[in-house]
Amino acid sequence: MTDCSEDHALSLDSVDDPALRRDEFLIPPAPGGDFPLASYLAGNSLGLQPRATRAELMADLDAWEQYGVHGHMDADRPWFPYHEDLRDPAARLVGALPREVVVMNSLTVNLHLLLASFYRPTAIRHRIVIEDRCFSSDSYAVRSHVAFRGHDPETAVLRLRPREGEDVLRTEDVVQTLQDHAHSIATVMIGGVNYLTGELMDIPEITAATHEIGAFAGWDLAHAAGNVPLQLHDWDVDFAAWCSYKYLNSGPGAVAGAFVHERHLDDETVPRLEGWWSTDPSSRFEMRPESEPQASADAWSLSNPPIMAMGPVRTSLSIFDEVGMDALRERSLRLTAYLRGLLQTVEDDCGVTILTPADDAHHGAQLSVRVPVDAADLTERLSENWGVVADDRRPDIVRLAPAPLYCTFHDCWRAADALSQELSGKGIS
Ligand SMILES: *Cc1c(COP(=O)(O)O)cnc(C)c1O
Repeated sequence: MTDCSEDHALSLDSVDDPALRRDEFLIPPAPGGDFPLASYLAGNSLGLQPRATRAELMADLDAWEQYGVHGHMDADRPWFPYHEDLRDPAARLVGALPREVVVMNSLTVNLHLLLASFYRPTAIRHRIVIEDRCFSSDSYAVRSHVAFRGHDPETAVLRLRPREGEDVLRTEDVVQTLQDHAHSIATVMIGGVNYLTGELMDIPEITAATHEIGAFAGWDLAHAAGNVPLQLHDWDVDFAAWCSYKYLNSGPGAVAGAFVHERHLDDETVPRLEGWWSTDPSSRFEMRPESEPQASADAWSLSNPPIMAMGPVRTSLSIFDEVGMDALRERSLRLTAYLRGLLQTVEDDCGVTILTPADDAHHGAQLSVRVPVDAADLTERLSENWGVVADDRRPDIVRLAPAPLYCTFHDCWRAADALSQELSGKGIS
């Protein structure tokens, strides 16, 4: 049974944890309630600003001021190879070889660019598999991509649904669906951590099952990158993409990431959309009509990167590098287990249900809670009355994500207490 006292939360926070970097982040003021700062559990939606980001941005503005066009080569951090500096830390974050990773564009754009390569439909093998309750953008991307290639989204997009009466997918059912449609599936592209339920999928097992039926395995890691340890190379994932503004704290609309497995990098038969940033940097300015694509994920990049938007990604990745995903995950599991314990003590009184699987192999930081009232209205009250910032998914789901870099046990306690106050009229301790 979880100790629900506020003192216990404070005592958990009094133990030094090198994975907690709260001092390096700017925590927003509480929108309401008795505490000065927000209990910010919405880092799965928009991560908080690292203190170092402002200086990083200013340095890039200064270089532009000082060097003009010569900043491409002469700035302290020259713009021409700027994105290459992000390659190693991004690769460490997702468990990839450096040349398998590139920081570019935004997430949905990258999904399309990767589908251009790894959705190669034939008359028979033309299907693409996604989760039924995937993020809308992924559904729109896949449906439009399929239609663009001349197939009917109604039949060519296969949507994975949980069993009747269940909220999350079972690995065995996913594998069974793949086997049932083995000959018609070209590509599988699902979320590593589901944005709605917080379910962490068994990426290696589903990837292996995808390869067994002769299809490509792609993963949308929007809610997984910076949340759970990943080993994309060893898991043999074909391609992946993620955004940098959720757990990666790089700011709204931040530059995203993409992964292509090594075995596809030297394969000249892989079709690809290209621009001048796909070509070998040594001959980039020769302005030849044909590209000489690099044997790296850079071959998928098109344009010169937005330097003013790259600094925040660099700042953020350096924090993840210092802490390391294993230490971060260890803290994350403790925080989320504590929040779950608190919520379980009030589940019956409040009429809430936790949808996110309890098994550590199947969840990240986020807990998704089904509430007996309008979720949007409830999150507004959590914020205004208690300073707890959570996020709602209509009609009845509230998502609470203690991001381990800056959230505390006391933040979790405040969230559970506020939820209980609002739903049952009494606090938790
Ligand atoms: C957040 C999120 C997106 C958002 O897409 P953008 O292209 O970054 O605007 C897409 N897919 C998933 C699964 C997400 O969680």
